[in-house]
Amino acid sequence: RVVRGMAPIFGTSGEIVALGGSGTGGLQAAVASSFSPGERVLAAPVGIFGERLAAIARAFGLEVELLETRYGSALDPEALAARLRADREQRIAGVLLTHNETSTGVQNDLGALAAAFGEHPALRIVDSVSGLGATPFAMDAWGYDIVVTASQKVLAAPPGLALVAASARAWERIAAARGPRFYFDLAKARQFAHDGQTPWTPPLSILAALEVGLERYHAAGAAAVYARLERYARAIRSFAETLGIELFSRPGAHSVTVVALRVPPGLEAGTIRTRLRERGIVFGGGQGPMKGKILRIGTMGDLSDADLLAGLEAFETVLCELGLNAADGRGLAAAHRVLSATPVTA
Ligand code: PLP
Repeated sequence: RVVRGMAPIFGTSGEIVALGGSGTGGLQAAVASSFSPGERVLAAPVGIFGERLAAIARAFGLEVELLETRYGSALDPEALAARLRADREQRIAGVLLTHNETSTGVQNDLGALAAAFGEHPALRIVDSVSGLGATPFAMDAWGYDIVVTASQKVLAAPPGLALVAASARAWERIAAARGPRFYFDLAKARQFAHDGQTPWTPPLSILAALEVGLERYHAAGAAAVYARLERYARAIRSFAETLGIELFSRPGAHSVTVVALRVPPGLEAGTIRTRLRERGIVFGGGQGPMKGKILRIGTMGDLSDADLLAGLEAFETVLCELGLNAADGRGLAAAHRVLSATPVTA
């Protein structure tokens, strides 16, 4: 039932397997099951999670080439197209992409990136741990081969379950690949799934919770979920813009599931987060080179208008205490205006 509920969210009629493990386990399964040591992959990170995907590939003995993008920006489809066109000998066996980069609040345009592949035969692998279900996704129509997501993001279940969808072409490559793998072996997971089983003891409690998450998702309807997340992200962005707080993501690259803001000049991320936590509000901080420079606000999960407004009110109060003069209630009013101008659909 979980796999059936996931299919329209992936936008695939291909096979989907559920693996015990968090999103990273799903990404490891995708990389370890699809390639043989020494094969070359092109990784195109736009943040820390994309870098981690590249690190997984290195750990499994792949030769990793990086296509770099400035953090805060989305991957340029033309840059990807140019690199693949230049690979005349077709040495690149796989391309590793991130759909939604949680560390920078950036969403890649996977529809536009799909067109960049042209006739190149590289296997197209996507980390959509924090993106799937939040915006329209058409795995089959776009031609992606393996897409990985996890239980704890848009579907609002507890963490500990990875979901991996793979195309017919991917299953052929998986059968031929000789990379070391055991627990996170997609071929084994698929073989057991045909009998309604898993190779190892599955996390049943999370499967049960995800079933409820999926029932709620489909009862609301995907379009209503997209609208809810977009509405929350817009309210947060409007709050920030009103107070003169810069967004970290570039225009056109904003994620709807996480909004990344630059820490206002003169203020400290750590102090802001500590004071917020004292009020019961948790904001993410920056990771890697963004540490101390950005704050991240998630819109996923069982969030209500009241939760969001309470979080932003606390944020504005803390900013005011720390001397940001503009933080006099204007930010909250702006967020409120966005929420009241946009009807609730889910
Ligand atoms: N990829 C992205 C984009 C993520 O946001 C995360 C987690 O936040 C992961 C991968 C890793 O997932 P997990 O922490 O479930 O292993």
